[in-house]
Amino acid sequence: MNYLLSKSCAQISVFSALILIFIFFSSPSAANNQTTSSTDSFVVIITIDGFSADDLWNESISIPTIRKLAGEGNWSSGMQTINPSLTWPNHLAIVSGLPALGHQLIFNGKIEFEGSIPFNFSAHPEKDRLTPATTLFEAAHNAGLRTAAINWPATVGMESIHDNFPDSPDPVGHMSEDLLWDLFDEDILDDMTSFGFWRNNREQRDEIWVRAAEFLIDNRMPHLLALHLLNVDHTQHRTGRSSEDSRAAMELADRHIEMIYDALSRNGIIDDTTIFLLSDHGMKDTPNAFLPNQMLFENNLLHYDRDGNIESGVAQAHSVGGFGMVYFDHRATKEEKELVYNMLRDHPSVERVVQQENFADYKLPSSELSHVGELAFFSKPGTAINIAGGFSSEVHSNFIVQSRDHDFPLAHHGFLNDCNCMNALFIAYGREIDSGSTSGLTDITHVAPSVSYLLDLPFINNNESVMFLILDKLSHDN
Ligand SMILES: [Zn+2]
Repeated sequence: MNYLLSKSCAQISVFSALILIFIFFSSPSAANNQTTSSTDSFVVIITIDGFSADDLWNESISIPTIRKLAGEGNWSSGMQTINPSLTWPNHLAIVSGLPALGHQLIFNGKIEFEGSIPFNFSAHPEKDRLTPATTLFEAAHNAGLRTAAINWPATVGMESIHDNFPDSPDPVGHMSEDLLWDLFDEDILDDMTSFGFWRNNREQRDEIWVRAAEFLIDNRMPHLLALHLLNVDHTQHRTGRSSEDSRAAMELADRHIEMIYDALSRNGIIDDTTIFLLSDHGMKDTPNAFLPNQMLFENNLLHYDRDGNIESGVAQAHSVGGFGMVYFDHRATKEEKELVYNMLRDHPSVERVVQQENFADYKLPSSELSHVGELAFFSKPGTAINIAGGFSSEVHSNFIVQSRDHDFPLAHHGFLNDCNCMNALFIAYGREIDSGSTSGLTDITHVAPSVSYLLDLPFINNNESVMFLILDKLSHDN
């Protein structure tokens, strides 16, 4: 402003004319975005990975800050996830508003399948290699807003994220350079390598992510901040849902949410901010594990070398928790494919086998995509699917083992999304949210359009399903 005031009228006219020419030649949407009034509005999306909806009011857990946000904002009885109810597909659903049918991501990374077995699994390809979907980060960036993502999945290489500390095996290597230097200067990171980062335990890593988010709130508050906390999920996997450790992990998450809330408050922006406090899926205890690759091995459909590595075969399963996919080698016969289908369909641990022509019924992506297999299957809640196999002697009955005996996860997710056990946490708090309200089952794909509305962004991926808790507020205002 001072700059303009110090200039002569003639100079101002030239300057104004240039602005007019710029607006005239900009695309209509870009011009609209220039006039957005959202620059003093903020959205913070926090996920507590694996926090089950029904733990919100579980009296044996002390989570006062989370309950304060629920009580003073809007909480729902649960948020339905997409299939598969896994971490990366659901984090991508939160920021894209799309089920896997639209965004195409089905695992926490990508299978690289070229028609022959064994295939490779890559846990850290760049976002552009995982999904064609537009996300809120691109939409906000295009509108001239500032964005940040801390430990958010499927964000590696995204130029639309100003401050990015991605969920990746190499998080420091893929971090925005400015942020890396800042976190090092602030002693939030004591080392500028991913090797150093992974020396921290699970609780310490969550702490680093929270302090990184706090640093951004204090120094360069993004209009859109996404933060993903992982300790609750990991602890439940390791110790089961109702263990002492899992309760402690949820209580630690509550203190981390309090740190974010306090940072927004001390910077005077809490009233301008909408907080979505979510999880990506629920969690179910899994005392048993079903081993589909062992089943394929014993039916001579999959072969292992002496070191226990898959050598060749006509069928191979990949799974996480309650969700699995079978990939067939290009040499597999129709009879072999039918055999695999029938074995899965008749297995006592399998809840549902879905053939490729029915994937759309479960909003799974087309098997024509190279990373998608030909059969999807979901196990019954309580039994996780595990891809271990090649055991030389029979160590099981019906290819089912006790999770504890093999150091397999004692709780898991991935089960069909119509099981209440997979329902995720949903709390919305702050700007534009009715205080003290509740909603029924919410839908994870409705978060992105609601955030678009709150930040005055164009709706992305043709999803305009703004959540009714915000629509209620609109109708009251009108
Ligand atoms: Zn998760």
